[in-house]
Amino acid sequence: MSGEERSYRALAVVLGARPLGEADRIVRMLTREFGKLDAVAKGARRPKSRIGGRLEIAGRVEMMLHRGRSLDVIVSAEERSQRWTALVEPERFAVASLALERVDVLCEPGEPVPEIFDLLDSTLEAVAKSERPHRFIARYSLRLLDLLGSMPPAERCCLCSDMLEDRSWLDASEGGILDAKCRRPHREEIALDPEDRANFAALGRERGAGAAVEARPQAAAAIEALIAHYCARPLRVSALPGYAYGPV
Ligand SMILES: [Zn+2]
Repeated sequence: MSGEERSYRALAVVLGARPLGEADRIVRMLTREFGKLDAVAKGARRPKSRIGGRLEIAGRVEMMLHRGRSLDVIVSAEERSQRWTALVEPERFAVASLALERVDVLCEPGEPVPEIFDLLDSTLEAVAKSERPHRFIARYSLRLLDLLGSMPPAERCCLCSDMLEDRSWLDASEGGILDAKCRRPHREEIALDPEDRANFAALGRERGAGAAVEARPQAAAAIEALIAHYCARPLRVSALPGYAYGPV
């Protein structure tokens, strides 16, 4: 293999990092070209490390990487969008951490979906500028499920495919919305009226005509229930052992 083939470029958003040895870090990132991957930043924990200073969480970074035997190594990093200063504000930080964690938990390594990179990148950009960053959570989460092929239809019962009428219920364990015939009442179901369902559909729509950002409370609750179901557990920031969604 030539030197050329062993190096590659990637546009990345830094998801988080953990220490390796005395001075290195393993940086987890979502790249536009190669999906989620871990790579070593050598010497990144030394106070004056040039590379360490450019790998701040949630930043958009253009990387040069070198293929290693087990983990690839970050050769250089150029920051393309620095968001850390804006994201230290607690509410923004909480929303950004949640956005990073959901991508980390739901995306498999090495399966690139450029649209997911763009969704994460544009959401972080918006969160860093927003006075009400929580408003982005519902739309971000549902767009993520849609891009992963797991967004349920908002017009039809997910079990019998009949058109939904007046009343319906989100049942996360079924992965979708049920009509009165198919519904098996239980505590976790979330009632959705036609306006909630229209809002749900608009939140999941690609940017453009008919897309919504503001979520009605029941639609937001339905999206959170689906996310918890697909993550197999309620998501909590920093829930992964030994892993920090914080300053790299
Ligand atoms: Zn049905």
